Amino acid sequence: MLNREQYLLTKAAEECSEISQILMSALKTQQFGMRENKPEEPTNKERVHAEINDLMALIDMLNEECNLNYNRHDPWNAEQIAKKKERVNHWYNYSVPIGRVEKPEEPVVAVALTGGGDPSDPSYKELREDGQQKEYLVLAEEEIKKGFVRPVRSTYIHTGERPKYPLRDLTDEEQERYKFEGYTKYETYPESESPACGRYWSFKQLQSGCGHSTTMGKKLSETYARDPKFYGATYCSNCGTHFPVREFTWEGTDEKVGS
Ligand SMILES: [Zn+2]
Repeated sequence: MLNREQYLLTKAAEECSEISQILMSALKTQQFGMRENKPEEPTNKERVHAEINDLMALIDMLNEECNLNYNRHDPWNAEQIAKKKERVNHWYNYSVPIGRVEKPEEPVVAVALTGGGDPSDPSYKELREDGQQKEYLVLAEEEIKKGFVRPVRSTYIHTGERPKYPLRDLTDEEQERYKFEGYTKYETYPESESPACGRYWSFKQLQSGCGHSTTMGKKLSETYARDPKFYGATYCSNCGTHFPVREFTWEGTDEKVGS
């Protein structure tokens, strides 16, 4: 006989299979938003939302009752999600040239390397002794010429990441649950940030940022000005290593790099 945890896991697996079915049906009809034939019937989008909600209900129950402790906004989870997106795009970019996937209508942006090397050779990412890459990927001149969406700024400060909202101490139960993650505080988000309800912070995250400034070359600065989200991480010359862009602020502003 199933115990409670096994029962919830079975239900969650059923929901995953239902999500898979509705996604396959959306794939066949190539519809996510458009009304299907009968206006009184839910659209594929509405069906997918309903199935995701069913799965979320099970995840909540597994969180609450079975110590699953899943919160997509925990920094580790958020990072894993970002990495998965990168992997999906990585393989997508391989599939287009070999004709397995349709060419996107939007042209893929043209890129170049700071030192003029070949951007398809990944060895540009190798680190030099000072912790910088051999070369950096930048937008090609033709892309830069399309115009800036932010001012061209070349200096940022390693300000670190700080909470926006008040922090509270962890409960005894949370301390026990997150002892390996090193979380020490919880930031509770206001209603306006819903559906995210808050995030945990470790002492290290609360101390992040050395306060020093780093100045980039023209090509990198212009790439940020053309596409503020082009880079996920950037270099601090004082720390001698790369950190997520959210740890940096443009000099003389309180604007986050990457926003
Ligand atoms: Zn630093």
